[in-house]
Amino acid sequence: MTKPGPGHTMCTDRLDAMSNTPDNAVRTTGPAESVRAYIDAHRAAFLDDLAAWLRIPSVSADPARATDVRRSAEWLAAKLKDTGFPTAEIWETDATDGAPAVFAEWPSDDAGAPTVLVYGHHDVQPAAREDGWHTDPFEPTTVDGKLYARGAADDKGQVLFHTLGVRAHLAATGRTAPAVHLKLLIEGEEESGSPNFPALIHQHADRLACDAVIVSDTGMWSAQTPTVCTGMRGLTDCQIDLYGPDQDIHSGSFGGAVPNPATEAARLAAALHDGDRRVAIPGFYDGIVELTDAERELFAELPFDEERWLRTAHSHGALGESGYSTLERIWARPTAEVNGIGGGYQGPGGKTIVPSTAQLKLSFRLVAGQDADRIQESVRAWVTASLPEGIRHEVTFWGATRPCLTPLDHPYLQSVARSMGRAFGQKIRFTREGGSGPAADLQDALGAPVLFLGISVPSDGWHAPNEKVELDLLMKGVETAAYLWDDLAETASAR
Ligand SMILES: [Zn+2]
Repeated sequence: MTKPGPGHTMCTDRLDAMSNTPDNAVRTTGPAESVRAYIDAHRAAFLDDLAAWLRIPSVSADPARATDVRRSAEWLAAKLKDTGFPTAEIWETDATDGAPAVFAEWPSDDAGAPTVLVYGHHDVQPAAREDGWHTDPFEPTTVDGKLYARGAADDKGQVLFHTLGVRAHLAATGRTAPAVHLKLLIEGEEESGSPNFPALIHQHADRLACDAVIVSDTGMWSAQTPTVCTGMRGLTDCQIDLYGPDQDIHSGSFGGAVPNPATEAARLAAALHDGDRRVAIPGFYDGIVELTDAERELFAELPFDEERWLRTAHSHGALGESGYSTLERIWARPTAEVNGIGGGYQGPGGKTIVPSTAQLKLSFRLVAGQDADRIQESVRAWVTASLPEGIRHEVTFWGATRPCLTPLDHPYLQSVARSMGRAFGQKIRFTREGGSGPAADLQDALGAPVLFLGISVPSDGWHAPNEKVELDLLMKGVETAAYLWDDLAETASAR
């Protein structure tokens, strides 16, 4: 990942340089007409291919579908060979129950060209007609320009658009190999939490070496407002167990004179934030990459309807860190959340005790500049310092996903936005993602900036019944991919 230093700022002329209206699209990838003509001529065959792939129920969470997940990997490897990739291989994970990934590689004729790795996944979430699907989730159905099937948007559609994209790129430029050294890594267990993915990328780090990672497993703000995501938050979560008396004891005989673990759990939860709802754990914000004014202005330009957002949140009010907008809070600020709190008597009626134990479950969303290991240490130190004598504690962290961020003015990020701007014929805006994913593993293991390229929209229903992809947007994805490799190669040579 390319982390801006602490003094990183972005001036206003930079912001101007970032507007990517189609007229300032100086890079060329052959005439756009020939890209579009090629895509139009091959659209029907491309959609037939996608439908064939979507019919394979590659549900990684279901052991009974393991052969389907493998069939999906084999289908994709064959399709990539067919597309022209000289190398397309199935990669097994180390785990016996691991699902296979697909790796493909197509070197450029230009030895000095940058190397780009496209990441996506070929496994899908479970789906059954009785979950509320109007059609068979594994029998792709097109209605009103929308293709309904499990995996249509997440992620098979967005992986496959690279096949027609690279062919259109070659056809329009007269090249016989892409303008960049192109690699694809399409994993088979993303929908199961990518348990073996970090090990897989470390094992093959030499073959995955690259100058940039393109994550094609993401979405845009909306069909009317196409956007590029610049980063994702990280995550670490834990359980804190508090132990007081060796057993529940009488609150009349002992209460008020011994520490109560349930009270201490509540005190910890209450002390987690200060009056401005900033996280009060010492050191929590140390070294974080702050939002720049330019990025705040760009976020503020997005057509955000807070009322509507609250409805999607099923919440009755917005609340968070002072001085930040809702979008800033969910995309670019770190958080501490109480996920659960418990202890003592929970049954009917009263029970006058000082309970023996209490628990607190906390999760922390992290932003660039925060190191999960350091945050875990800070949390442990804070818990130890906060508790009175007579309360024993254990802090158990479940795991950590690192944050990733590519600064707005990174030339490769601009390349993605410019290519998308050409395809969509309008200005591309920028977002971030509040959730956490394996993108940061790639960034960490390969030391390359992560760029997000996706054309999915929030209504596509990822993980939900009636998942779909909008065909017009899917073809914009193809077109973006057709422009991107030339633009990245030119951008790299200009650096
Ligand atoms: Zn996905």
